[in-house]
Amino acid sequence: MTVTTNSLLTPEMSHSNNHIRRSADFRSLLEEADNGPMSQSVNEPVLLTIAGFDPSAGAGIVADLKTFAAHGCYGVAAITAITVQNTRGVEDLHPVEPNVLKNCLSALFADTSIKAIKVGMLATRATAAVIQELLEANASLPSVVDPVVRSTSGYDLIEPSGLEFVRNHLLRQVSVITPNLHEAAALTGLSIHGLEEMKVAALKLLELGARAVVVTGGHLERPIDVFADGSGLQTFAGDRVKPENIHGAGCAFSSAIAAHLGHGRQLADAVVLAKAYVTEAIKKAFAVGSGRVPLNHFYRVQEASRVAP
Ligand code: PLP
Repeated sequence: MTVTTNSLLTPEMSHSNNHIRRSADFRSLLEEADNGPMSQSVNEPVLLTIAGFDPSAGAGIVADLKTFAAHGCYGVAAITAITVQNTRGVEDLHPVEPNVLKNCLSALFADTSIKAIKVGMLATRATAAVIQELLEANASLPSVVDPVVRSTSGYDLIEPSGLEFVRNHLLRQVSVITPNLHEAAALTGLSIHGLEEMKVAALKLLELGARAVVVTGGHLERPIDVFADGSGLQTFAGDRVKPENIHGAGCAFSSAIAAHLGHGRQLADAVVLAKAYVTEAIKKAFAVGSGRVPLNHFYRVQEASRVAP
């Protein structure tokens, strides 16, 4: 696989005391990732996604499992809710009984050595509480929460009390939380339209108890992510790529971070690599319906298996 790191990832440092990361660091990191654990077919870490089901397979649990597989991980899954949707948007949502979710999680943990957890759409407060319990009991495992609030088509994917639970409890429990602009605004109460407000929101989420935050700015004129942890704040800028009407980018980004954490990478490296993966998977995306376009999660496999004419 070839990734054009120069244009893809330009760290823009925003605070004088920031840890400075250069483009050259990213290039060697990406090459190492291409030749390392992600290209192996054995000794795959087992990763768990806890998320919603999207029948069009562009977002939610199916997108997470595809992302895990693309990163040399074996994915297991527990469904929080079934959505009725196609590429044009979400029509309905049916939460899974909290006890059924709990039993699925118990069955998996009784049997499997899970190396990292990704949490996506929660739908209800009751679901969020089950997950809080699970994360408390497995506090040593790396975990990523994508605090899904609303589909791009405008359907609410979590009840207000569920979002409140994420703000007041769940975000303290996880290794990193990955809100987009809208989700960061919903969690902080801030109005967020650009980079400076994203930085303020990231710091506010740390204040609220998050250990690390990535506020993703995929919808900005120039896509830029703000990463903050206890040691400072970094921004990662990328190029705007097509198609623009993409579906499930947030799911793939958070799952790719979990995959890299499952492989033992440091969080900041995981974030850089996940952004590179999502950018390429968008560039190689193709439509499967008349609505929005899912990522092409397996572009690396397709490139590797392409035979010269
Ligand atoms: N459906 C499910 C199950 C999801 O998890 C998500 C987002 O995480 C969505 C729909 C919305 O995705 P998008 O906003 O990319 O359409």
